[in-house]
Amino acid sequence: MKTIGLLGGMSWESTAGYYRMINEGVKQALGGLHSAKIVLYSVDFDPVEKLMDRGDWQGVAEDLSEAAVKIQAAGADFLLICTNTMHHVAPEIQDAIDIPLLHIADATAEALIRSGIKKTGLLGTAFTMEQDFYKGRLNRDHGLDVLVPGKADKAFIHNTIFQELCLGIAKPGTRETYLRIIDQLAKQGAEAVILGCTEIGMLIEQKDTSVKIFDTTAIHAQKAVQYALQR
Ligand code: GLU
Repeated sequence: MKTIGLLGGMSWESTAGYYRMINEGVKQALGGLHSAKIVLYSVDFDPVEKLMDRGDWQGVAEDLSEAAVKIQAAGADFLLICTNTMHHVAPEIQDAIDIPLLHIADATAEALIRSGIKKTGLLGTAFTMEQDFYKGRLNRDHGLDVLVPGKADKAFIHNTIFQELCLGIAKPGTRETYLRIIDQLAKQGAEAVILGCTEIGMLIEQKDTSVKIFDTTAIHAQKAVQYALQR
């Protein structure tokens, strides 16, 4: 079994989900007392979020690359960045290390394509919903047609990610609004909706909606398990 490197803490609420899902996946695959071999580096999110908010992506890249180098030195065979948004600096992080980085958008796109989805909705931070590193990658590299919510709904999602979900707060009213936005994307032709922020799975589950949901945390964790167990 390979050792999984996790660059987490963004937020720790969702990294806890990765830890649980990866261990459950290995237990399911191997049985007995088997569990995942993991090196986790969990950052202090507050200063990293402030850099991002100021648009200092170079600062983010430097801090996260330094953490990734430590994960590699501690024996990880490959790396997961446990957040969609921070894949903004995935190329810089990959350049800093020799082990492979399993990109969350690639794992997600593969899952959608396997299910025959061509047109998808995307929820996440404003960076994820708007920028080329994520929305563009789904379209350019994987041929997916990507729909995002309108301006006001995008702002609502972005703000509730940082003011509620990253703090472990799941409000029923917020859930209702997310479900309305998901329905709207489906009405516009989305065959599925990507929960493109690692905390949204704490708010929305498949049982809450008839629209097909792809939770990036679960998909990324599953990908890590497969890769760790593959010979
Ligand atoms: N965890 C979130 C994501 O998946 C947002 C927090 C961050 O900016 O990293 O995008």
